[in-house]
Amino acid sequence: MIIILKEKAAPQKVQQLIQDMEAQGLSIHQSQGVNTTLLGIVGDTSKVDIEKIQALDVVAQVKRIQEPYKSANRKFHPQDTVIDIRGKKIGGGHFQVAAGPCSVESREQLMTIADQVKDAGAGILRGGAFKPRTSPYAFQGLGAQGIELLKEARERTGMPIVTEIMNIGHLPLFEDVDVIQVGARNMQNFELLKELGHIDKPILLKRGLANTLEELLMSAEYIMSGGNEKVILCERGIRTFETSTRNTLDISAIPMLKKKSHLPVVVDPSHASGIVWMVEPLSMAAIAAGADGLIIEVHNCPEKALSDGAQSLRPEQFSQIMDKIKKTAVFFGKTME
Ligand code: PEP
Ligand code: MN
Repeated sequence: MIIILKEKAAPQKVQQLIQDMEAQGLSIHQSQGVNTTLLGIVGDTSKVDIEKIQALDVVAQVKRIQEPYKSANRKFHPQDTVIDIRGKKIGGGHFQVAAGPCSVESREQLMTIADQVKDAGAGILRGGAFKPRTSPYAFQGLGAQGIELLKEARERTGMPIVTEIMNIGHLPLFEDVDVIQVGARNMQNFELLKELGHIDKPILLKRGLANTLEELLMSAEYIMSGGNEKVILCERGIRTFETSTRNTLDISAIPMLKKKSHLPVVVDPSHASGIVWMVEPLSMAAIAAGADGLIIEVHNCPEKALSDGAQSLRPEQFSQIMDKIKKTAVFFGKTME
């Protein structure tokens, strides 16, 4: 971090600023020019409040050189993080596909789809029990009963389960869930993120509809700074001016996140496009760009789905795409176990 001081900064106040920085365990290198004085702040500046410094009357400008996140930062953790989900590994060359319905709708629906995605080679079962819907009149999910059905499907197939949490108060219901999903709409629900930082369970953190990658990594930091280092990042498309797809898949997010962070990165081509035929090309693109996994919506009867039918693959379509996914992942040096 570099602090540029104002031309006629009062020496006493500058001294006070230097002492405050040193009290935070940072060392200061002062460089005196003809008109400008620079303070180079060396050390872990992730906890320094940049706005407070900016507000001091001796300060002209503050510039961060180091990212404001530490736990999620590859600089402090060069090796890829590998997360173990009931024996299914993701990250560091291990590739996983999570598949299943947008919403858990009934026992019959979930068990049918669970059997089919397992046969096709998916490693993890997805299914929403608490659904974030734009309309309060739309199907809101089966809630606690949906989670019970997911557990039953896990029992039946052996596949670990991932499902979305929307309310901190619901956390006890997720005790026996394998991966807790934080949906796009809750990426900056900081109280929820803090709470998830105190549990020992993988968290699938989806990028918000209009959030930058730095904001996504800061949200991961909320979870990790609480002690839970098992965070999986998910690119699921962002809002742009384009209207022909539901969202715009930000392919560059994948190599950028992998460069900046050691955490596994998965891609959701279903929510990114909102279009069933686009799931395959976007999956291929995601693997080529370095993704560690995919999360794909599959429904046994998409035309009757209670949510996201238009983007849900039929099991036969999923099975065909899975063959290509497996070959492509292997081609790009991943293992799928
Ligand atoms: C979902 O995965 O079902 C979902 C609601 O996704 P997102 O939060 O990315 O919209
Ligand atoms: Mn959905």
